Amino acid sequence: MTMTDPTMLADAALWRTRDLAVLWHPCTQMREHPDTLPLVPISHGRGVWLHGMDGNRYLDAVSSWWTNLFGHAEPRIANAIAEQAQRLEHVIFAGFSHQPAVELAESLLALAPPGLARVFLADNGSAAVEVALKMSFHSFFNRGDTRRRKFIALHNGYHGETLGALAVGDIPLYRRIYAPLLIEPLFAPSPDAWLAEPGESAHDHAVRAAAALAVILAEQGEDVCALILEPLVQCAGGMRMYHPEYLRRARALCDQHGIHLIADEIAVGFGRSGSLFACEQAAITPDFLCLSKGLTGGFLPLSAVLTTAAVYEAFLDDSRERAFLHSHSYTGNPIACAAALATLAIFRDEPVLERNRTTAAHMAQLAAPIGEHPHVAQVRQTGMILAFELGQANSREPLPAAQRTGLCAYRAALQRGVLLRPLGDVLYWMPPYCISADELHHLAQVTAAVIDESTRACA
Ligand SMILES: *Cc1c(COP(=O)(O)O)cnc(C)c1O
Repeated sequence: MTMTDPTMLADAALWRTRDLAVLWHPCTQMREHPDTLPLVPISHGRGVWLHGMDGNRYLDAVSSWWTNLFGHAEPRIANAIAEQAQRLEHVIFAGFSHQPAVELAESLLALAPPGLARVFLADNGSAAVEVALKMSFHSFFNRGDTRRRKFIALHNGYHGETLGALAVGDIPLYRRIYAPLLIEPLFAPSPDAWLAEPGESAHDHAVRAAAALAVILAEQGEDVCALILEPLVQCAGGMRMYHPEYLRRARALCDQHGIHLIADEIAVGFGRSGSLFACEQAAITPDFLCLSKGLTGGFLPLSAVLTTAAVYEAFLDDSRERAFLHSHSYTGNPIACAAALATLAIFRDEPVLERNRTTAAHMAQLAAPIGEHPHVAQVRQTGMILAFELGQANSREPLPAAQRTGLCAYRAALQRGVLLRPLGDVLYWMPPYCISADELHHLAQVTAAVIDESTRACA
């Protein structure tokens, strides 16, 4: 950490006070500010570092809610945004078009799994999920199949916070209170390898979860529009990971029952899983591919739903009612599209995925000794996502929730200049891809220290 100068400290305190007088932060019990949780005013970012107004800097190990790919204030993306803002900041996207949107759609279709032919733009991840759910239902309706109105979702899945997206999610902390407002999907068992029986491999567990899905489909398949899932990693559900065999079997089952597969790659897309898109690891093409978060390199809100020609064609008709009458004011925003194009240009010009393989191997190496800690029940990794499942000493039993070990680890890491924001008692690394070997080393040292400290002293 850098030396703190008294004027900067005063500055940070002032912004903290002004913030807490007027703002309401997301996913936060505001009562915990300012005493239990420090609020951290940030003045600027560079690479993996966030610079606090108090003069301290914080290594962003969670890519600012999984959005950032190439570091904060990445100059190529920043410049593309500045240039676009001076040419065309926004235009109504119904009846009008522009170069950044066209080029973005062309580029995404060229990169995505084969068989996707159309791109619908929205402005955040939850909106993309809403679009996919509505499009799936509506496409069956337009074909005269009006009976299909159910969705299948996975246990422990997460797809966003708006009512439709929340309905197909299964994280009680976010869903339970709103349950009376939500459509009821059919929930299928998660292929999550952590849930495997003793002696059962991740592959075999995935096969068993697919068999359970087959039973649901055999019973109610004719009422179902789509299966929605997060390919390979259930991120908000605690970075739970599963074998790609599940995706292959789910794809086959969806085909067999004539239903859509919605792949929510909002978190795992753009290289997080090791491949550009996680679906590639199972060699499948979904009927809907939802993208957001890393799409703009973490600069601006934007989302895209890629779908097939078959879905698109179900909406073509002389009647307006058959059209997809869904819109957001900022749909296709040119500045956000320019940020996304600059992000894709970095993937094109640099060996990003290859470099990430080296980084991911280094992450594994550094995490292995941390996994020896008696309170680390499992270290798991998929590409650039690595998670530490904390538990009771030398056991798979969770820590008592009242201990709030994760929160404790969060605070301890912040004090050491690292932003590690756990999911319950799961600590994870999901850093910007530009993280250096030295920075990873530092991250590993701090992680080891805070796991030890928080499982020991914070009880
Ligand atoms: C973050 C996330 C969403 C929601 O995206 P927002 O932009 O936060 O609305 C949906 N699905 C998954 C898998 C996510 O991780």
